[in-house]
Amino acid sequence: MIIFGTRSSTLGTIAIKGTPCSHCGDNGSKRITVFGKYFHVFWIPTFPFGKSSVMECTHCLKTIAQRDYTTEQRIQYQNAKGSIKTPIWHWAGLLLIAALIAFSIIAGTFASASTTTKETDPRAQLLTADMNKLATHPTLQSDSISYAIKQMIDNKIVSEMKPEEFKYFSHIQDNKLILLIKIRKLKKVDKEYRPEFIEMIEEYFDSKPSLDTIETYIGLHGKYNMMVIKNPTALYNSRFVSDRHLYDFYGDKSLYGTTEKESIPSDTIKAIE
Ligand SMILES: [Zn+2]
Repeated sequence: MIIFGTRSSTLGTIAIKGTPCSHCGDNGSKRITVFGKYFHVFWIPTFPFGKSSVMECTHCLKTIAQRDYTTEQRIQYQNAKGSIKTPIWHWAGLLLIAALIAFSIIAGTFASASTTTKETDPRAQLLTADMNKLATHPTLQSDSISYAIKQMIDNKIVSEMKPEEFKYFSHIQDNKLILLIKIRKLKKVDKEYRPEFIEMIEEYFDSKPSLDTIETYIGLHGKYNMMVIKNPTALYNSRFVSDRHLYDFYGDKSLYGTTEKESIPSDTIKAIE
């Protein structure tokens, strides 16, 4: 059983003057007590709905109900009652409900986020690990492909794009190559022109006979997420491109958790120079 209804509490008093009392005719001051009405559920104030009042004559001490105010008393009351504010606790129930809803949404988000993590493709972590290796200054020794691509991009890209801030990482394993580039201002490049980065990179790869038969996975990361991905089967170009289009670089999903992949550090590719 839910107990609900309306209650009221005293909000304050207003003094009015110069109107005759309907009982004793006295013109002296009258005191109006203002009540705030609110709806309650189990006596918890839920929301307010208006005010009521009662007037007391300070001379004869009779109380006069609001419906019996004279026109002038009603006007004085209407003018003064705005200064009597409804306290926030009259909204306590609704605020509580809003807080509970907000809490359940946040809790739900966290719960689903943790579920997602559990179900995440194991290759997502490998990509994240590789993204963490992005470097502004790849060296010929540590990452020769990134080093060469950076040289080329620095020469071809206009300075407004701040090519000196681009970050690179590349890796070769199982006859597959992944190249990740983080370009913070990628969004500033018109969408139709973004794949030109890919074309430029592929031209470079095509010029290297040692990369002839290799499968390439190229990911261009904007400020927050992948925006262009080219894998052996398709090109993706959008404000948000899912990382999963790069996962095949790491092999089949079923490989993980069973066998360790053998990987070749990308410096072995130095031979191509
Ligand atoms: Zn009176």
